[in-house]
Amino acid sequence: MSERDTFNRHLLHPWAHLPALGEDDSTPVIVRGEGVYIHDEDGNRLLDGPGGMWCMQTGYGRREIADAVAGQIMQLGYSTSFFVINPQETELAQRIASKTPGDLNRVFFTTGGSTAVDSALRLCQLANNIKGMPKRKHILSRENAYHGSTFLSASVTGKERDKTAMDTLRDQVHFLSSPCAFHHDPALSEQALCDLLLQELEDKILELGPQNVMCFIAEPVLASGGVIVPPADYNRRCCELVRKYGIIYIADEVVTAFGRLGYWFASEEVFSTVPDIITFAKGVTSGYLPLGGFAVSDRFMEAISGEKSGGNNFSNGYTWSASPVSCAAALASWDIIERENLLDHVKQTGPYFQQQMRTLLDLPLVSDVRGTGLMAAIEMRLDNEATGEALLEQDYTIGELVDHHCHRFGLLVRPLINVCVMSPPLIITREQIDDMVSALRQALVLAQRDLRVSD
Ligand code: PLP
Repeated sequence: MSERDTFNRHLLHPWAHLPALGEDDSTPVIVRGEGVYIHDEDGNRLLDGPGGMWCMQTGYGRREIADAVAGQIMQLGYSTSFFVINPQETELAQRIASKTPGDLNRVFFTTGGSTAVDSALRLCQLANNIKGMPKRKHILSRENAYHGSTFLSASVTGKERDKTAMDTLRDQVHFLSSPCAFHHDPALSEQALCDLLLQELEDKILELGPQNVMCFIAEPVLASGGVIVPPADYNRRCCELVRKYGIIYIADEVVTAFGRLGYWFASEEVFSTVPDIITFAKGVTSGYLPLGGFAVSDRFMEAISGEKSGGNNFSNGYTWSASPVSCAAALASWDIIERENLLDHVKQTGPYFQQQMRTLLDLPLVSDVRGTGLMAAIEMRLDNEATGEALLEQDYTIGELVDHHCHRFGLLVRPLINVCVMSPPLIITREQIDDMVSALRQALVLAQRDLRVSD
């Protein structure tokens, strides 16, 4: 049996399209990676546009991470954080605390981003229960937000496509408008849009009753919802507003931390926001091993610990919370980011990446290009202005069509309906950005031809 036959027979992948289960004939089989490139089983080399899943910060084939992981396995291959401590978790927690804003000095490790969000939300529930505010249960999120796929993290996810037949917690979760300028009235200035969004947030808090609202959870830049960069000052103003009502502010930095925007964490340095909790995952190990977590403020923990704890436990954790092997991978990745000055590299390369991506706006199929740092999205239009013909039937496949053509030009992209998102490894060079944009242009031209969109 070929890899594909075995895949079709035995595997269920995340977000599998059930009508076509077992009938895949195009998903590439990837066998190797080095630097910013991955190789498929036929020997084709592809530049990894999505950087794995927003996570391959230092790129593929890092001997230093392999050695750190192998060395850690031989030293101590497992250790539970339920009742013993390992030196890798303490070192990593101390480094994280040195880079988080304000007094976010206490770190809880999980197995990834969903469990980080889930754990953070459970901590908020616990805190309110301990503080005698059991009615503060409502959670505010946004349309287009993605926060994970545990029951709770999926419940606070606002992507339309993910609201499927799978159950979520509905009564306690409320979705505000996505802060996406492109999908709002173009006549609105950035400032006016920001005011509108803030008004909506305050109206919702007042409608629910501030005493019933637990937290507001927000990605500083909405990632898989289509790389939505909110209006200037939006994040800071949301944080200040919810805090005024005693509501907890959680920044989900699963994508934006560890260099994607040129900083260890983006909340304060990019968005002047000091959250109560920051969640992280993905880039913390450069994607090599599963790890995530959250950092929470001292002030938050002081209010629910010691004499104020009411004798409670934080009854939440995972067999691989703070796995020493994952933490060793994270420390090795951290060392590479520092030694190779990757944060400065992103600060310098990010604007070039954005500028080059925006050159694609001249293509009729492209309706918007947006992004910041080393994350960007190309949105394709759903109507054919030239013929007046709606492309709606194909809208779920436009991204896949572009991805398909990109492979011919040596590029992997991540198709999300009619949006392609890009978040290459942080080590990407200007020449590789040029190759990426050139491949995208050629693929988009072919897709236009297929969709009969005129030049
Ligand atoms: N939060 C954000 C912002 C994400 O983008 C993701 C994953 O893409 C998650 C949470 C969930 O992370 P994981 O897939 O590691 O569980």
